[in-house]
Amino acid sequence: MAVEHPPFFQQVNRYFDRAATHTAHPEGLLQQIKACNSVYHMTFPVRRDNDSIEVIHAWRAEHSVHSRPVKGGIRFADFVSEDEVVALAALMTYKCAVVDVPFGGAKGGVRINRDKYSRAEIERITRRYTFELINKNFIGPALDVPAPDYGTGPQEMSWILDTYMAMSPGQIDAQGCVTGKPVAEGGVRGRTEATGRGIYYGIREAVAQPEELGPLGLQPGLDGKTVVVQGLGNVGYHAARFLQEGGARIIALAEYEGAIQAPAGLDVEAVVRHRKETGSILGFPGATDLPDSAAALELECDILVPAALENQITVHNADRIRAKIIAEGANGPTTADASEHLLERGVLILPDMYLNAGGVTVSYFEWIKNLSHVRFGRMGRRFEESSNRRLLRAVEELTGLRLKPETLAEVVAGAGELDLVNSGLEDTMVTAYHEIVEIARREAIDLRSAAYVSAINRVARSYLSRGIFP
Ligand code: NAD
Repeated sequence: MAVEHPPFFQQVNRYFDRAATHTAHPEGLLQQIKACNSVYHMTFPVRRDNDSIEVIHAWRAEHSVHSRPVKGGIRFADFVSEDEVVALAALMTYKCAVVDVPFGGAKGGVRINRDKYSRAEIERITRRYTFELINKNFIGPALDVPAPDYGTGPQEMSWILDTYMAMSPGQIDAQGCVTGKPVAEGGVRGRTEATGRGIYYGIREAVAQPEELGPLGLQPGLDGKTVVVQGLGNVGYHAARFLQEGGARIIALAEYEGAIQAPAGLDVEAVVRHRKETGSILGFPGATDLPDSAAALELECDILVPAALENQITVHNADRIRAKIIAEGANGPTTADASEHLLERGVLILPDMYLNAGGVTVSYFEWIKNLSHVRFGRMGRRFEESSNRRLLRAVEELTGLRLKPETLAEVVAGAGELDLVNSGLEDTMVTAYHEIVEIARREAIDLRSAAYVSAINRVARSYLSRGIFP
């Protein structure tokens, strides 16, 4: 039986309203920040491979144009609805503000089950969707810049770029109309894994704080922490991989076909290989199969990372959640009611709006790269290396000591694009974490409310500085 949840946008606004009481902005300004500025619901035909014609429903919501361009992913899923697209667009506004990325929030959705369409049909749908967006000025490097989300990836972004370029001759910044592109087409190194990497940085920072971990009965540090991850897609797979590399023990993984558990720890790469070979994560050697994905959420663990979809932790299962920390990889995985319940029980929730902001942060870097038309590190890397080399030679001459060639190479190495992207991402996640924690402590509120307060204040400042509310 389908479980009913309050509309997603209503849940986002409930969080907003609660956080707004910890700010001093006038009611009208708060209403303006909260409202969705525009939603475009389109229907268009697609010719199927068997020559039949099907009508597709799709949306693009621009939640807040306080800062242009607006930014947000595109979903391909059969459950896409206007409410979901608008709610996710609102989350994007707040997410960008929390990590100080100068974009308003947007989101797109195409209501299709992509497994039921051939690659050629998906290409036709993606190109037609892009064409509709162009026609209504809902895409463009200075207007609205989509990115991947559930059910889309670099291939769809490539088709969007190609369609946009074909329709915008002479537009020098056209490449910045979409992010999450393959590197060969103007993408940036590190974008694919950015959301998962950002989740890792956020969790690592949170578990390094004795003040946060003490009440949970946990020792600071990621080493040996037990982790359950739901969803092995772009976000979940990379988050699991980085957490494992960082020393955590992945004791269970869940996909839509079921879940597997191994208290001694799972090798994430090996599980992904097994799933590719057999079509399922079930039956992984050395692991126990669980009946379904929901069962994995209820396992005892230090950190639960829901990284599949919204509404996974609800009032119906919140009582049975035994994780000490919920690290929200997906957007909206915990309903507002369940969140309240878990916070009362002392569970630490690292909110989606902060924790999965790594993707949009690196998308911002990609957009900057496209507008500047130069790869990060291209101008400075060799200069940096020769400066480092000269400095070390001088030290060697002074001290009479000699570094081994491999040590020398390691020490002098200049920063390439991936180093700079990862460094910018790490700095963003660490800085935002401490900003949120400071608000949470000052106002005696949870981290999600604190993230909303931080976001509301930034968006409000942007409106006020432009004199919209003189
Ligand atoms: P994806 O399509 O790459 O992966 C989602 C995975 O979840 C798929 O493997 C799917 O089979 C699995 N799944 C679906 N239902 C499930 C269930 N009930 N139990 C377990 N697994 C299930 O999508 P993604 O890009 O990884 O996005 C996942 C979530 O993260 C979404 O909420 C998305 O909005 C959010 N998000 C994505 C990004 C990004 O950069 N891709 C950034 C921020 C937030």
